[in-house]
Amino acid sequence: LIELRDVNKHFGPLHVLRDISLTVGRGEVVVVIGPSGSGKSTLCRAINRLEPVESGTILIDGEPLPAEGKDLARLRAEVGMVFQSFNLFAHKTVLANLSLAQVKVRGRSKREADRRSRELLDRVGLADQADKFPAQLSGGQQQRVAIARALAMDPKALLFDEPTSALDPEMINEVLEVMQQLAREGMTMVVVTHEMGFARSAANRVLFMADGRIVEDRTPEEFFTAPESDRAKDFLSKIL
Ligand code: ATP
Ligand code: MG
Repeated sequence: LIELRDVNKHFGPLHVLRDISLTVGRGEVVVVIGPSGSGKSTLCRAINRLEPVESGTILIDGEPLPAEGKDLARLRAEVGMVFQSFNLFAHKTVLANLSLAQVKVRGRSKREADRRSRELLDRVGLADQADKFPAQLSGGQQQRVAIARALAMDPKALLFDEPTSALDPEMINEVLEVMQQLAREGMTMVVVTHEMGFARSAANRVLFMADGRIVEDRTPEEFFTAPESDRAKDFLSKIL
C-alpha cells in the first residue's frame, strides 16, 4: 500500500534519509523506533510529501506521489497523519474539527459530514464531547479527536508520529487502546513511538532507524529478543 524506493533527503549538509526502501502492505502495522535525530519524523513526513525528497519514488497504492498538484492532494488524503502536538483547530468545536475537511476535501454535505463525525467520536469514546472546544479537553481526549479527524477522511493508511509523547502518563493508554483497536480492524499504520508495549503487541514489523538508514526491519519478537546491530542493542539497553 505504501512503497518507498531509494528515497534520499538532505537538510543542508545533513543526510537525513539515506536510500530508504520500504514496503508497507495493506493491513500491516509498522512501528518505527530509533534514537533522536535518526530521521523518523522526516520519514513520516516524506511519505505524504509534507517534506519534499530529493531522489527516489514514493508510491501510494501503486501510484507514484507527484511533487505537486491535484494528484498530490488526492493521494495525500489517502494517508492520514497524527502528530505529537494534536494540531486541532483551537477556535472550532470538536465536531467542526472533524467535519471541516470532509466537506472541503471529500465534498460531503455538512449533514453527512456531521453524521460521520459523530460516528467516529463515538468510536474513540468521545460521543459526548462534540460541542466542546479543544482546550476544554484533556490531552488524551484531544489526541483521540485528532485520530477521529484523520479517520474522517477515510484514509487507506494512517501515520502516527509519537502520538503519546506529549501526554501525561495516565492518558497514554486511552490513546494506545484506540490505536490497538484500529490495528485489529486492519488499518494500515506506520507508527513512530517509544511505547514498546504497543510495538510488541500491535506491530507486524519493527523498523529500527539510525543515521537516516533503516538498520533493522524485523518482527517485534525477533527485534526485542535478538537485535542484530550494535546500534539497536545499544538503543534497547537504554530504553528497556
Ligand atoms: P526525534 O526522536 O527527536 O523526534 P527523529 O528521528 O524524528 O528525532 P527527525 O526529526 O526526522 O528525527 O530529524 C532528523 C535530522 O534532521 C535531525 O538531525 C534534525 O535536526 C534534522 N532536521 C529535521 N528537520 C529539519 C529542518 N526542517 N531543517 C533542518 N534540519 C532538520
Ligand atoms: Mg521525531
